[in-house]
Amino acid sequence: ASIISFQNVSKIYPNGVQGLKDLNIDIKQGEFVIVVGLSGAGKSTMLRAINRLHEITSGDIQIDGKSITKAKGKELRLIRRDIGMIFQSFNLVKRSTVLRNVLSGRVAYHSTLKTMFGLFPKEDKQLAYEALQRVNLAEKVYTRADELSGGQQQRVSIARALTQEPKIILADEPVASLDPVTTEKVMDDLLRINHELGITIVVNLHSVDLARQYGTRIIGLRDGEVVFDGPVAKATDET
Ligand code: ADP
Ligand code: ADP
Repeated sequence: ASIISFQNVSKIYPNGVQGLKDLNIDIKQGEFVIVVGLSGAGKSTMLRAINRLHEITSGDIQIDGKSITKAKGKELRLIRRDIGMIFQSFNLVKRSTVLRNVLSGRVAYHSTLKTMFGLFPKEDKQLAYEALQRVNLAEKVYTRADELSGGQQQRVSIARALTQEPKIILADEPVASLDPVTTEKVMDDLLRINHELGITIVVNLHSVDLARQYGTRIIGLRDGEVVFDGPVAKATDET
């Protein structure tokens, strides 16, 4: 069974641009998938469709056998809780501590009122510490997010995603603003998390070279269509 399944998915933006054209993709639990393609290929459109950050125009996307396309209310919230998200720009609350940022991965588990006042149970803090240990940032718990380097901030956002206890992590160009050395650390963290925890990870990258270095499976997109889908060794420059 697939954990992520695209069935004839198309996305047309209001201005008429076709972001995705009839995508059919199946991703299995525990896979580490890298989506590559030039700027404008549709990578971000595809990733954002998975957790329904935006609506698709036709087709269906199923998460662990349930249609997120059709889900409403509580059902939608429960599906989304299984999906962690990492962005190019980290999206941290800059003036908050690392711990606060990582704890925010738990908001979907509690009432808005509680989390607004920062009332997270002990167990959540335990999860946050464990996640920070996994990305080797345990000593930074009380540091303000904006006092960290770019690489460290991205690892905080990985820890935040982990604290959510997701089945899937989506990473949209997570290393696009990082230098090569830091890029490697962040990618290694993602790979390690995939191996150790079995979390399905989908990463968007614009660099085919980088993708080749890491991907067990590469999906190449061009003009919203899949032009390559296979193991890393077979990926060619076509993508
Ligand atoms: P990538 O992530 O591979 O760079 P995108 O998914 O961002 O590609 O974009 C795919 C196509 O959709 C591009 O032609 C882009 O210009 C267009 N597009 C992306 N977002 C929007 C939007 N909000 N409104 C209209 N067109 C968009
Ligand atoms: P920068 O982002 O300034 O290049 P990093 O935040 O990547 O620096 O690394 C800061 C320190 O954390 C370094 O001393 C690095 O060796 C250490 N570190 C230990 N384990 C890891 C890891 N798994 N990922 C990244 N950095 C790590």
